[in-house]
Amino acid sequence: MTPDGARCSFVKADGTRCAMRPTASGTCVVHDETQKAAMQEARRRGAEAARARRAAVRAEAAQGPSVAPTKALKLDTAGQIHSCLEETVNAVRLGNLSATAANVIGSLCRAALTALEVRLLEQLEAEKAQQEASQPVGARRRRR
Ligand SMILES: [Zn+2]
Repeated sequence: MTPDGARCSFVKADGTRCAMRPTASGTCVVHDETQKAAMQEARRRGAEAARARRAAVRAEAAQGPSVAPTKALKLDTAGQIHSCLEETVNAVRLGNLSATAANVIGSLCRAALTALEVRLLEQLEAEKAQQEASQPVGARRRRR
């Protein structure tokens, strides 16, 4: 390691040097004394923005959907799942449902669709197995 290298000259409490790239002052922007006020202001603004974001998320979560669901939806068929998605999309578009709630509904609809696929595949396999079991090996039943 070169004594100065292209690193900030600030020495931390543990005796190691700061690894950030230095500015013309020889220290990084974080350790530049002439930038101290600007850094403090940036930190203060960053913390304020983070607080505002957290407050907005809490407010949205507390508010929930502004329109209570009027009925329980069945999600047994692709058509029912599609209807749920359609209802959700329109509720968001019309400002009646939060984006957060819509995201959850979207994820659950994807899960419901996957479960439906698995269920249909299982049904098909069960039907196939039943058909094969009911036919003697090599025999073909004539359909009437
Ligand atoms: Zn530094």
